[in-house]
Amino acid sequence: AQRRRRAVQARCSSALAAPILDDLRLRCATPLPLLRHVADAMAADMRAGLAADGAAELKMIPSYVYSLPTGDETGLFYALDLGGTNFRVLRVQLGGKDRRVVDSESEQVSIPKEIMHGTTEELFDFIAARLSRFVATEGGNFRLQEGRKREIGFTFSFPVKQTSIDSGILIKWTKGFAVSGTAGKDVVACLNAAMERQGLDMRVSALVNDTVGTLAGAHYWDEDVMVAVILGTGTNACYIERSDSIPKLQHLGLVTGNTIINTEWGAFSDGLPLTEFDRDMDAESINPGEQIFEKTISGMYLGEIVRRVLAKMAQESDLFGHSFADKLAEPFVLRTPHLCAMQQDGSNDLGEVELILRDVIGVNRSSLVARRVIVEVSDCIVKRGGRLAGAGIAGILQKMESDSSGLVLGRRTAVAMDGGLYENYPQYRSYMTEAMAELLGPRDLAHVVVEHTKDGSGIGAALLAAANSKYV
Ligand code: ADP
Repeated sequence: AQRRRRAVQARCSSALAAPILDDLRLRCATPLPLLRHVADAMAADMRAGLAADGAAELKMIPSYVYSLPTGDETGLFYALDLGGTNFRVLRVQLGGKDRRVVDSESEQVSIPKEIMHGTTEELFDFIAARLSRFVATEGGNFRLQEGRKREIGFTFSFPVKQTSIDSGILIKWTKGFAVSGTAGKDVVACLNAAMERQGLDMRVSALVNDTVGTLAGAHYWDEDVMVAVILGTGTNACYIERSDSIPKLQHLGLVTGNTIINTEWGAFSDGLPLTEFDRDMDAESINPGEQIFEKTISGMYLGEIVRRVLAKMAQESDLFGHSFADKLAEPFVLRTPHLCAMQQDGSNDLGEVELILRDVIGVNRSSLVARRVIVEVSDCIVKRGGRLAGAGIAGILQKMESDSSGLVLGRRTAVAMDGGLYENYPQYRSYMTEAMAELLGPRDLAHVVVEHTKDGSGIGAALLAAANSKYV
């Protein structure tokens, strides 16, 4: 690798791209002391966010989940997942400790554009109508207990101010939704009203964030799961906290036991090694100054950062010759899956990299040097992202550990991971675990298990409806 790097350096110096690459490596470096600072700052910010609202970058949002699924739950439960241009309905028949998930079925429905830009009633009527259709196909292994209404766990991945396990006020729509009249309203009440209009006799028992659903779903299978992290288009993490360690909730009276805290860690920024490329991307984003951790480590942005580096190289050197279209100037043309595909190319002539350069950036004839440089730039940005994600997880574990006097890292502790970035990008995954190993050290690392849970949030929401059922 070193020889390859030297060869790249030698040949690019003439191309003037080498100084940009060297500078990038320097500025994106994540040596152990820097990772330590990030992990410590994450832990400190978590404490500040638990103390008072608005006191820290991390919002540390209480989930109002005081009952996690135990495995004893039985019966039929539904989940509804709204978080993007699709929504998902799901049902699950639970059979208790021994039989667990007897059966589950789900369906995905895409939301028409006019509904995303319509009124609150139109959106929730659309959802309730589709849900009603799904309920009508119930049969086989699915049986509602007599005397009960069907209960729903509602995963709602937009900013809400939650006030109880089954209510939450929409702060604002994001991700392309522009539905009028919902902000300031309780989304559970909106759904209930729409179900009533449809003649659908169901009730929402739990309103949950998708990360919280993932944690509940993973915890159902493995009680040692204490943390859930999503690394996909965006990123977030939540964990199990002792209720008496949450000063900002003490006014609610005596709360004992544990609850789930949604960290909203994407907003973190303390001590991150950022470059001019990150700053420019942030400034031109729809939310400048916000979600800096997310913009450094999550799937939506890694490709775009690399594009910005390449654009500068192309401008200041003849890295790509003169034979390329100006596709490189177009924001977000280069996506994280492209970086991933390029990094899997083990061939001598980097044929896959050549194809991506041609098809995505419009470089018709790329030199081997140029192909190597783009792989190096990708690796640099992905390494920084993966290692910082690892430092964030170590920070959460540290916080949990120091407030529980050895109860977390002294025993087996599992971290549930979900999301397309973690799932599909092997280099990202290994950089992340490498950073966790450096920070935790061999003794603590021996107790930490990182588990991949795929699409656990849907079943997790249904399980939370069961654990918070009105009938128990
Ligand atoms: P979302 O986060 O949008 O709900 P996912 O968890 O499936 O959905 O994550 C999708 C994201 O994962 C994509 O935006 C992309 O950044 C990343 N991703 C998907 N496939 C790959 C891949 N092959 N290599 C690297 N990253 C990928």
